[in-house]
Amino acid sequence: MMLKQMLFPTLLATFAAGAIHAQAADTELNLYSARHYQTDEALYADFTKQTGIKINRIEAKEDELLERIRNEGANSPADVFITVDASRLAKADELGIFAPVKSKVLEERIPAHLRTQDWFSYSTRARLIVYNPDMVKAEQVQTYEQLADPALKGKVCVRSGSHPYNLSLGAALIQHDGAARTEEWARGLVSNFARAPKGGDTDQIKAVAAGECGVAIVNSYYLARLLNSDKRDEQAIGARIKAVWPNQQSWGTHINISGAGMLKNAPHKEAAVKFLEYLASDKAQTYFADGNNEWPVVSGVKVDNPALTRLGPFKADTLPIGDLARTVAEAQRIFDRAGFR
Ligand code: FE
Repeated sequence: MMLKQMLFPTLLATFAAGAIHAQAADTELNLYSARHYQTDEALYADFTKQTGIKINRIEAKEDELLERIRNEGANSPADVFITVDASRLAKADELGIFAPVKSKVLEERIPAHLRTQDWFSYSTRARLIVYNPDMVKAEQVQTYEQLADPALKGKVCVRSGSHPYNLSLGAALIQHDGAARTEEWARGLVSNFARAPKGGDTDQIKAVAAGECGVAIVNSYYLARLLNSDKRDEQAIGARIKAVWPNQQSWGTHINISGAGMLKNAPHKEAAVKFLEYLASDKAQTYFADGNNEWPVVSGVKVDNPALTRLGPFKADTLPIGDLARTVAEAQRIFDRAGFR
């Protein structure tokens, strides 16, 4: 009896000290971001309003941020790393900088194939096919695989094969069609090029509209940006091309993601988890996805984006994002061998 009475206050005191410590740590969050969308401001302001946690944001290119996190080591102030593209998140994960996050909220709201132990997807973008109807027929360009068909010789445009967007697509092809077929595909694609890969996805769309290429592979948000544009010349580009959701009769259109994870040495781990959970809230999902014309990952979140509405619904690939990310290195080797640079 006596012993219990003596122990109890000590335990209470320990808990109280822990609580005070956690509370003190929770007033700010250090976010390392490789996203550069203006609407992200509204997102962060809303998080601060809801939680009282101030966000200190460091923005730079992925590689610079990763380098910085590694150099800072155990003393890194970084709590959360946020970026676009599964292969980039996988690269960060391979460096061992993330800490696993166990959260009921995230498990419930983010579909299982769009999260890993260490990082979470918050929006999706699709890799679609755009074509010039004066140069190719719709039925020629319904799948990624068809783009390697000799019938399309001299008509295909795409950005560099070493770009993460194409490497992620290559990884999806390996997962669904196998490595041997993907290598054959890459060779066929290269031999169909209208020109050596150059420029970004928007440049490919413009080249299709101009008739320099018959068909191209591009991310959905670049097309959505043109479709939502109030500039006449950009609207005209959108009017001259047609878009296809690839692989609707097979494994679905390849999607990529924007995502984030908590860092191993995060000084504000509670705030980090709160932030990761906040990003999966209805309101944050709207900001997050709409800011770059992407789709929310949480089902039932309303999309109020005329261009995405115009593009319509589609069947997306449901390959686990972690498997996709892990296959990117193999895609790189295959593309190198096939001369897709
Ligand atoms: Fe992009």
